[in-house]
Amino acid sequence: MSENPGTGVDQLGPAKRLTVLSGPSGVGKSTVVKELRARHPEVWLSVSVTTRAPRPGETDGVEYYFTDDAGFDRMIAAGELLEWAEFAGNRYGTPRGPVEERLRAGDPVLLEIDLQGARQVRQNMPGALHVFLAPPSWDELVRRLAGRGTEAPEVVQQRLEAARVELAAEKEFDATLVNTSVREVCNELLALILAPQV
Ligand code: 5GP
Repeated sequence: MSENPGTGVDQLGPAKRLTVLSGPSGVGKSTVVKELRARHPEVWLSVSVTTRAPRPGETDGVEYYFTDDAGFDRMIAAGELLEWAEFAGNRYGTPRGPVEERLRAGDPVLLEIDLQGARQVRQNMPGALHVFLAPPSWDELVRRLAGRGTEAPEVVQQRLEAARVELAAEKEFDATLVNTSVREVCNELLALILAPQV
């Protein structure tokens, strides 16, 4: 695998046990992932680092590692992020070490990240399975995102603009799941994650 120098892929081999779940903000990715983890704790979920402020009920080290801009800059400079992106005014990234450790151990690993991050993973970690979570309709996505009540109206607007871009990129993914029912999507996602690797 000398065609990928410096990416870490040499030591890991193709990231066959890595699943990337992406899709527009508000589509329900975290809810699906939470249900999946509750039912199948053997699927290891990467905890991202972010400069976004915690929402009510979020705990440092559980939903995210919360940091400031300087802390995020330091992680980038030290090469500690597998991928990172700016999304709706904040930065988000995947800590590299734990993901590589789990993949080396052969565990199924799940990343829940935005489109820009998914594209970086596709470049740097060939073999990952890329799954797109789509809303049942645009109107439903608007309803969920605005109805969540956790973001200011201008942030909701920013996220809806990002959602248009993300929805247009659906064809880049290996599979699409439509989030009509959390339980069903969770079953479908699990079947993809645990499918025998070829
Ligand atoms: P939220 O602020 O709603 O928790 O997340 C906003 C967006 O950032 C979501 O689409 C989420 O999937 C994405 N995101 C979360 N963690 C990461 C990460 O580590 N990297 C990237 N690229 N996106 C992330």
